[in-house]
Amino acid sequence: VSEVAIVGRPNVGKSTLVNRILGRREAVVEDIPGVTRDRVSYSASWSGRRFSVVDTGGWEPDAKGLQQAVAAQAERAMNTADVIVVVVDATVGATATDEAVARVLRRSKTPVILVANKVDSERLEAETASLWSLGLGEPYPVSAAHGRGAGDLLDVILAKLPTTPREVSGQLGGPRRVALVGKPNVGKSSLLNKLAGSERSVVDNVAGTTVDPVDELIELGGSTWQFVDTAGLRRKVRTASGHEYYASLRTRAAIDAAEIAILLIDASQPITEQDLRVLSMVIESGRALVIAFNKWDLVDEDRRYQLDKEIDRELARVPWARRVNISAMTGRAVQKLVPALESSLESWDKRVSTGPLNTWLKEVIAANPPPLRGGRQPRVLFATQASVRPPTFVLFSTGFLEAGYRRFLERRLREQFEFDGSPVRINVRVRE
Ligand code: GDP
Repeated sequence: VSEVAIVGRPNVGKSTLVNRILGRREAVVEDIPGVTRDRVSYSASWSGRRFSVVDTGGWEPDAKGLQQAVAAQAERAMNTADVIVVVVDATVGATATDEAVARVLRRSKTPVILVANKVDSERLEAETASLWSLGLGEPYPVSAAHGRGAGDLLDVILAKLPTTPREVSGQLGGPRRVALVGKPNVGKSSLLNKLAGSERSVVDNVAGTTVDPVDELIELGGSTWQFVDTAGLRRKVRTASGHEYYASLRTRAAIDAAEIAILLIDASQPITEQDLRVLSMVIESGRALVIAFNKWDLVDEDRRYQLDKEIDRELARVPWARRVNISAMTGRAVQKLVPALESSLESWDKRVSTGPLNTWLKEVIAANPPPLRGGRQPRVLFATQASVRPPTFVLFSTGFLEAGYRRFLERRLREQFEFDGSPVRINVRVRE
């Protein structure tokens, strides 16, 4: 059963929230500071799904100080839970202890949901915006005591619960997960064989990880990588009907299970619609991306020139993707995939702190103010990085920012903080 851990400092309403999730109303000791409880696990269900809720008490306020105790509790949750719900008191705002917890949870590979509790009225909802500064993504306003927003919160929790064991695997700093994708016959299985054969070190087990039987661990450049759904590449099922459809479902599933995709394109042939469909799947997924132009052994001077033109035309959506020219057949440059994967994942994981981000923002905006809208000048107030994987930013503005200007900001942001290899998302929130 999947586990949802509720963390947060004392008195923010954790136990009330737990009771709300469980749909009951027992008196709890939350309001008595200094009361020590153990981790208590309850079983809950919502929309027909069962999961367990762990109320992580257990801090000893007098032992090492409250901040460390609550941070340690969050640390523990990262190792055991499938979803972490961190609760803050919206009527108080982010305290130093909340910040300490957030610092721990920002490293979390387990999904984290930030709950702004005690939002008893709509009027209070506006104040939760300041909680974006915790860097844990969007704050979900609820009133655990009155039930306000509780249903929406449960929907969000359910959406983040793993549905298959695969999603749980590799969570704790295990091997990075790679999907090898591309249209049929671009050389996916050839490349896989080359990579697996090159170091002759296909490991079958790495401590602390469970690898899906359809995946394969391959050691490259001194670290282990988990290539997802290699079974689908090794065992080619070519059925007459519906082949394309199932191939595309499989590709989508592989991308979703991975952190980064290697998109193979046949460099010896024109870039096709089918290549671009796979590219779109990667873009939608928000995963990091490396483009490998395969069959480079067949590319001559003329073709190279053609290809450059095709790249400018067809791959303009992903100017940030790293490109490597390889030959899966001869083994040419396949080792160059490793640094490309590593640096792209580094971008994908990257977090820019609020200080430098806003210093940069002020400068860019002063030099290039947003275009007028309806005769008014929108003011961009503040930016924060809401999440990583992919890096996602939220800009607060007094008016709508048009697409061209948002692209301009993205370009500048990429230049300043170096996000090569990773998509970057920018959401604009308009505050009146
Ligand atoms: P998949 O369908 O994407 O897995 O493609 P395969 O790995 O089965 O390769 C399809 C065909 O392309 C096979 O005949 C391979 O031998 C050939 N091929 C793959 N990579 C290269 C390459 O780098 N150069 C050349 N010349 N042929 C290649």
